[in-house]
Amino acid sequence: VLLDRLARILPAQALLVGDAMDACQTGEAVGAHRPRFVLRPGSTEEVAACLAACDAARQPLVVHGGRTGLSGAHRVLEGEGVLSLERMVGLGPVDPGTATVPASAGTTLQAVQEAADAAGFVFGVDIGARGTATIGGNVATNAGGIRVLRHGMFRAQVAGLEAVLADGSVLDGLRGLVKDNSGYDLNQLFIGSEGTLGVVTRVLLRLHPKPVAEANALVAVPSFRSAIDLMARLRAAVGEALSAIELLTPEVFDGAIDLLGQPRPVAARALFYVLAEVQAMRADDTSARFEACLMAALEDGEALDAALSQSPREFHALWALRHACGDVVRARGTAAVGGDLSLPIGRMEDFLRAARRSLFALDPATEFLVFGHLGDGNLHYVVATAEGPAAMERIHHLAALHGGSVSAEHGIGLDKKPWLHLTRSDAEIATMRRLKAALDPNAILNRGRIFDPIPVPAT
Ligand SMILES: Cc1cc2nc3c(=O)[nH]c(=O)nc-3n(C[C@H](O)[C@H](O)[C@H](O)COP(=O)(O)OP(=O)(O)OC[C@H]3O[C@@H](n4cnc5c(N)ncnc54)[C@H](O)[C@@H]3O)c2cc1C
Repeated sequence: VLLDRLARILPAQALLVGDAMDACQTGEAVGAHRPRFVLRPGSTEEVAACLAACDAARQPLVVHGGRTGLSGAHRVLEGEGVLSLERMVGLGPVDPGTATVPASAGTTLQAVQEAADAAGFVFGVDIGARGTATIGGNVATNAGGIRVLRHGMFRAQVAGLEAVLADGSVLDGLRGLVKDNSGYDLNQLFIGSEGTLGVVTRVLLRLHPKPVAEANALVAVPSFRSAIDLMARLRAAVGEALSAIELLTPEVFDGAIDLLGQPRPVAARALFYVLAEVQAMRADDTSARFEACLMAALEDGEALDAALSQSPREFHALWALRHACGDVVRARGTAAVGGDLSLPIGRMEDFLRAARRSLFALDPATEFLVFGHLGDGNLHYVVATAEGPAAMERIHHLAALHGGSVSAEHGIGLDKKPWLHLTRSDAEIATMRRLKAALDPNAILNRGRIFDPIPVPAT
């Protein structure tokens, strides 16, 4: 009966069942369950009608964007249907006056970046999965990436959004008003809620002026303390122009060099490597101050060696090293576990020391690979060990013990659910569950992601 109703809502190619669903669409490639069906609505109205029909039938759904999420949230659970935004693509014109662009939820991040570039702007978020990850998925996960220091998380890029609730109600928050204190800001509910509160269908995105000049440098530092001091020194020298500051441990740095077959940009072997970037917004002496600051750090012994990019080719080659870090850790394959977490910057070093000690006590053959966004206190890690589950348990407890979060930017999804309670209080989790019950009383949307919903009374 439900399928008949859905077939009346959607055109033929937008409702897939049986063999019409491919393994990639259904996520079976990663061991998920086969969904009952795949819905591919092409408009907000179709999303609303599909949700209303599924809600009435108590049919659970999982929302799919580009399926690049790293917390298992898009994995299909038994009995679920898939609601995919893949047909809802497209951008409206860039408005240079307000520096905004409207995007349909299934549009890729890269398409937004390219449209911004063509109109003389930049988009504030960049992540490795830019070619596949969608704007709806970026909103739902509050994606971060390499330029959070400069432009903030995805939340800061959202000037307005449209979302559909489980019962089919459409919330049009696309007005894009800078000031609007007429009641609750409902848009915020959907950012970072991993598809549990509603389906994001359209987003009004903020754009930023293009920098007039940019430079980066790879710096070998003798200690974690030196990395922090270098960051403070750079901030004092170039202020807001410091647009990224990334951390690499030697194992990951060496792995990236091997993977890319590049010459080492710095000769010194060090305990940590820092990739720093500055972006000047006007023709000024930012690059000269950046260089002078690095020279001073070298003279003071805060840096052991530094390679400053002298051309766009060198600039991109340094970033390529950083971008290869993900491939280095992913190459450890299924023999490894990993994730991301955040910490107060002042406690990152203690955490790393404690984590190493604890992981090697568990398994002396452990390989602990770490890199991340130093400026945001965000570490990405992979632990290659035969003791994967116990290692994850230890890492998350240590992150919480050091005042951190078990998820910095990848979300909780299904995979990190057991550890949510370590960084969010009972009262906070209870409030999240009450919000879920209020907006999706039948718990049809992304059920069981982040936390288990309040049980739905049988009808
Ligand atoms: C190589 C690589 C690099 C990455 N780098 C980063 C990084 O630097 N920073 C970072 O933050 N993440 C990173 N990620 C993770 C991932 O790309 C982001 O989480 C991204 O925002 C997910 O977008 P998606 O469209 O693929 O969403 P999906 O994976 O399809 O879904 C993610 C979650 O959002 C929900 N969702 C998707 N679309 C909607 C919608 N329209 N409405 C409501 N809910 C929706 C899903 O149900 C799910 O809960 C990386 C991933 C890869 C593979």
